[in-house]
Amino acid sequence: MPSKAKKASARKTAKAPLRERVMKGVPDDLWVKCTGCSTMLYSKELEQSLKVCQKCGYHLRLSAEERIRLLVDEGSFQERDTDLTTQDPLSFPSYKKDIARYRKQTGCADSMVWGEATIGERAIILGVSEFGFMGGSMGSVMGEKVVRAAEEAAIKRQPLVLVCSGGGARMHEGIISLMQMARTTAAMARLADAKVPYIAIFADPMLAGIAASFAFIADIIIAEPGAIVGFAGPRVVEQAYRIKLPPGSMTAEFHLAHGMVDMVLARREIRPMLVRLMNILR
Ligand SMILES: [Zn+2]
Repeated sequence: MPSKAKKASARKTAKAPLRERVMKGVPDDLWVKCTGCSTMLYSKELEQSLKVCQKCGYHLRLSAEERIRLLVDEGSFQERDTDLTTQDPLSFPSYKKDIARYRKQTGCADSMVWGEATIGERAIILGVSEFGFMGGSMGSVMGEKVVRAAEEAAIKRQPLVLVCSGGGARMHEGIISLMQMARTTAAMARLADAKVPYIAIFADPMLAGIAASFAFIADIIIAEPGAIVGFAGPRVVEQAYRIKLPPGSMTAEFHLAHGMVDMVLARREIRPMLVRLMNILR
């Protein structure tokens, strides 16, 4: 392909910048298969139901842009650190290529997006995981963004809201990824010392390094129905220990029943709850 045509085709397939898409909303495929009941769902109807299956109530995964659109006052999100990118500290094979590919697919620079926004006209600091970017895994960029978001929330004395989902530390950055668990935990401790509220929203799946660091130490935890929540995923536990876990033992509902989660709310109810909380926390 001549280079001009190549460039034009790349422009066509690459996503528009995140902010632009948050404002406009871009439809995906025409039909989507429900992960819960395998029903084929018409994507326009699915958009209207906020990607919740009307047959079985399954909450399909949202992209960061969809989540932001759902939660904050229209047009209020101002993204920060849009180009923060990994330095590939271990020169891990194909990592840079993978990063470039995920950037193109998701329109996000890494697996976390953060910035300022308002919810019910109250200024907040918002961070949202992008599960579509390497499974929402935490490397140096997610760690840095979570820390910066917490620091900004403390300085501005604005509540921090983090939408947490992902499969843990990113192996491509080895120990640097694991370090982010300690860094983000320390940042949340400083935020707590500053007496600024931190609300976490757990979306499927919320596991491993993210669960064991900044996610579970939020002041208020809201989880979506049916979300897988835990440290090692159910399949890993069953294989490693050769045991059968009780049904539903790694769900949001199980954690609610055992005091690890404060509320399980349908997707449609999360924004109104945040508006209420913002009024209480004023
Ligand atoms: Zn379904």
